[in-house]
Amino acid sequence: MDAYEELFLRAARDAARYRASVADRPVSSGADMAALRSAFGGPLPDAPTPPGEVVDRLVAAAEPGLTGTVGPRFFGFVIGGSLPAAAAADMLATGWDQCAYNAVLSPAAAAAEEVAGTWAKELLGLPGTASVGFVTGAQAANTVGLAAGRHQVLAEAGWDVERHGLHGAPRVRIVASGERHATIDRSLRLLGFGTAAVETVGTDANGAIDVEDLASVLAAGPSAPTLVCLQAGNVNTGACDDFPAAIEIARRHRAWIHVDGAFGLWAGANPATAHLVRGVEAADSWGCDAHKWLNVPYDSGLVFCAKPDVHAAAVSYSAAYLVGSGGSANWGLGDLTPESSRRARGFAVWAALQQLGRSGVAELVERGCHLARRMAEQLAVGGATIENDVVLNQVLVGFGDDTPLTDRLIEAVQSDGTCWLGGTLWHGKHLMRISFSNWTTTEDDVDRSAEAILRLARERL
Ligand SMILES: *Cc1c(COP(=O)(O)O)cnc(C)c1O
Repeated sequence: MDAYEELFLRAARDAARYRASVADRPVSSGADMAALRSAFGGPLPDAPTPPGEVVDRLVAAAEPGLTGTVGPRFFGFVIGGSLPAAAAADMLATGWDQCAYNAVLSPAAAAAEEVAGTWAKELLGLPGTASVGFVTGAQAANTVGLAAGRHQVLAEAGWDVERHGLHGAPRVRIVASGERHATIDRSLRLLGFGTAAVETVGTDANGAIDVEDLASVLAAGPSAPTLVCLQAGNVNTGACDDFPAAIEIARRHRAWIHVDGAFGLWAGANPATAHLVRGVEAADSWGCDAHKWLNVPYDSGLVFCAKPDVHAAAVSYSAAYLVGSGGSANWGLGDLTPESSRRARGFAVWAALQQLGRSGVAELVERGCHLARRMAEQLAVGGATIENDVVLNQVLVGFGDDTPLTDRLIEAVQSDGTCWLGGTLWHGKHLMRISFSNWTTTEDDVDRSAEAILRLARERL
């Protein structure tokens, strides 16, 4: 065996061994940060270390500090796992070390992203003519989508924002619901609008935008360049905005409509949940994650734009030494993302979609919803209150009005290790938040976890 083969196989074997054992390990690592630091630490090495020894040391130092997010009973945040084919494809992307800047630097990366992007649009029900950028996640996708909107609404007002920036520009109205994801605010900061620019729209009981309030907020302000940001998949409840109604209202004000669909856009790939995102295809840009519900390894997100030229106008650039970037006839990969040099993320997205196929993606989404309903039913039977309408993969759980109890219980569940879940603040209440998006989670995992949560709740009552 040559040196590469031995080293790569060793790394792959360790990763595989971890995957095979993750379901049986405590979900929380319980690691002592000081111990981890010293396992990684000590003085900067003066001299080289043989690669095999580096890998051995890395495995020994890291393993005690790994959290079982890739395992079946991690219900915190919206995490996803990673499908075997997608994880293996990501290993190949690293092994091949392609720079996915354009088709000159990596024809294979360009072709894979073109095909995977086309498949993703088809599954999500987005326009086939939309451009697709392979970004780091929904944060970057939302930033690019909103940058495209910023370009377009200011261009319509006669302002070239790429050249002149926002100094002296016509004021842009930003309209979004009070239930927008916090990363939208960060996108607005990065784009120079600032968070105070947001005109906040009310929501219904499950966190979807109140379309009547959207109409009044838009009507109350001046006629101006406007960005409207909608949402598919509220991070607490899974609620999706009423797209046909909201988009119709926003169109009357000639707004650019961006949809943050980090995980919720995948509802469109499952016939049983597609009604939740009906009409979403009429927006102008969409941000979506591959590393959450699609179960692609971190970091992987997709930005789609109905107007490819606007997408590229917002993020492309050129330099004398760069060859092979798009030009409007054929926008290259680097014209659609904020990075130039990057890992070929498309291989893993392609592999996930190839492994699952249309029916597999639908089944993955449906299973997450089914497991969320099952968890909600079991906890309700055990005396908990389900505080949201479980429309998708998110469950909010309360235990009476006893906030300290809920907080203590979340900590107790985390250190018990059967499963991991986090807390949230929803309508003034501290609640337990349970999210389903891992392809390996089974009914048995839900039953074991519900049993552990209820057992800990009884012990503390
Ligand atoms: C996770 C999430 C984001 C941010 O996505 P990243 O992948 O962390 O960049 C944005 N919006 C929603 C609704 C999310 O769930």
